Parts: sequence; structure tokens; C-alpha cells
Amino acid sequence: MKQNRIFAFLTALALGAALTGCGNTSASNVSSSTDGKKIIKIAYLPITHALPVFEAAEELKASDDALQVELVKYGSWPELLDALNTGRVDGASVLIELAMKSRQEGIGIKAVALGHKDGNVIVTNDSVQNAEDLKGKTFAIPHRQSSHNILLNDALAQAGLTVDDVNVTELSPPEMPSALASGQIDGYCVAEPFGAKAVTLNAGHVLYSSEELWPDSLCCGLVLTDDFIENRSEDASYFVQSYKEAGKNLTPAKAKEIALEYLQQDDAVLDLSLKWIRYDDLEITADTYQVLFDKVKEYGLSDNPPTYEEFVKNDF
Ligand code: ZN
Repeated sequence: MKQNRIFAFLTALALGAALTGCGNTSASNVSSSTDGKKIIKIAYLPITHALPVFEAAEELKASDDALQVELVKYGSWPELLDALNTGRVDGASVLIELAMKSRQEGIGIKAVALGHKDGNVIVTNDSVQNAEDLKGKTFAIPHRQSSHNILLNDALAQAGLTVDDVNVTELSPPEMPSALASGQIDGYCVAEPFGAKAVTLNAGHVLYSSEELWPDSLCCGLVLTDDFIENRSEDASYFVQSYKEAGKNLTPAKAKEIALEYLQQDDAVLDLSLKWIRYDDLEITADTYQVLFDKVKEYGLSDNPPTYEEFVKNDF
């Protein structure tokens, strides 16, 4: 229960910081580079889950398109969320539960596509060989508002357990592989490639893949600000279509090339990580969103998440 209070505090802190600057700034004014191109600013974290954003940016750049993507890198979800919620960027590739929470708090954003399909694993050390073994163990997630938290709940439910049976802690993604290797934690679930990293280092093994626990799971989403969608509707539509096309173009070879360029991780880590993920269909359907909506409520991430109609824009 103590852990839940810490979660609530951190969430309130992140949202409070985000709300402070709401409405003061706007990224919707078309910022032009010297050659007169239109720019869309997209925030991201360097993870395997954000590859379609990188690929879309590369494709638009290579084709010398009138619309260019300015990628804005962040080191943590709270920092990225602060930029998104205060309008310093036009959109972001972000954990969908964090975006739902922002929308619930009144921030004007819409989810317009998925970041990926599948692509999460629960990694544990040798002391955890099945869901029952999680009882009493220390388990890390990146944020309470995440599909990683939902997947932990799903795994525990397999053994009739809940998060009250586990010591849940929040760590930043890059810290998790070494925390597992040192015995500080017994397992974790987080955006890739940090699950693959522990496996590659022989610090842990895959207890569950996301598809085993939650078929067609949602995790990251591409979100755009309402400001951008309303004031630059043609650019928004063009970008979302380019983004979904970029996802289809991410063949294994192409995905590897882009991942090497943007993620600065070893070959072996990326090869394993990319086996677990796909990008070919990035539509957010009402059915798959409803499953997420129900899990968010069931596992206590939020009592009042936004509905599909309130939060998802699927008609570009
Ligand atoms: Zn994700």
C-alpha cells in the first residue's frame, strides 16, 4: 500500500509540473527552417518502440518533402510529458496510459496511431521461474501509468496474485538491466530494448512475452496536440499517413538500420529486441482500446480514463 502512495505522489508531481505551464506556450505556429520547409516537432525517448517516428522523419527528409520532422529527444517520460502538455512540441511517441492521464486532466491531445504492436517482455532472474514465484519479490516498472504495469498485473493474475503481493518499484529504463544483474530487483517490464539487454547480458530470462499475457496489447502511441490538429489539419493528416506508411516500411533490415542509428545499442541487443516487435499495422481500433480502457480501470491506474471517442482520432 505504501508503494501505491508513492506512485500517486509521483503521478501528481508529474501532472502538476505539466499543468503549470499549460496554455502559456504554443508550438502550432509554423516554424520554418531557412529553406522554407514546414516543421512538425515530435518528442521521443530513444527506445525500440519509437522506430516509426525515426523512419517517418528519415523518409520525409530523403524525399525533400515540404513537411519535415524535428525530432526532440528526452531522457525520461516526465520530461517528455512536460514538453507535450505545455505545447513545446506538436506531438510525441509516448506511453499511451500517460497520454490518457494527461487527456483526463484536461490537456488537449489525441492519440492518432500506435507506436508498435507487441514488443514487451517480463524479464526475471533465476529465482522467478513462474508467476507464483513473483510473490514477495521486487519488481521494477518505468511508471505506474504504463502497459508495463498492466502486464505485471496480468502476470500476477495468472497465479491469483496482485501487486499487493509484490514490492513494486519505479526505475528509469536504462537502470533496469544493471539493477537485475546486481540483485537489486528480481524482475522488470519496460520498453525495449532494455528487456533484450538483460537477456543478452545473461542477467535474466523472458518469463512472459506481452502477447502471452495480453494479445493485441497497446503500449506506445503517437499523439498530436489538438492545437496542431486544428490549426495545421493538412500537415497533421499528411504526417499521420506518412507515419503509418513508415511503419509498414520497417522491414527487419530497415528497422535494424534505423535502430542502430538512433538507439546506440549493441547489435545482439537490437537483433533480439526487434524479434519481439512489429510496426506493420499502427491503427488504434475501438476494440483493442476498449480492452486497454478496462484494464486501466481494473488495475487501478485510473478510475476515469478517456473513452475512445474522447481520446482517439482515427479519421486522417
Ligand atoms: Zn511501447
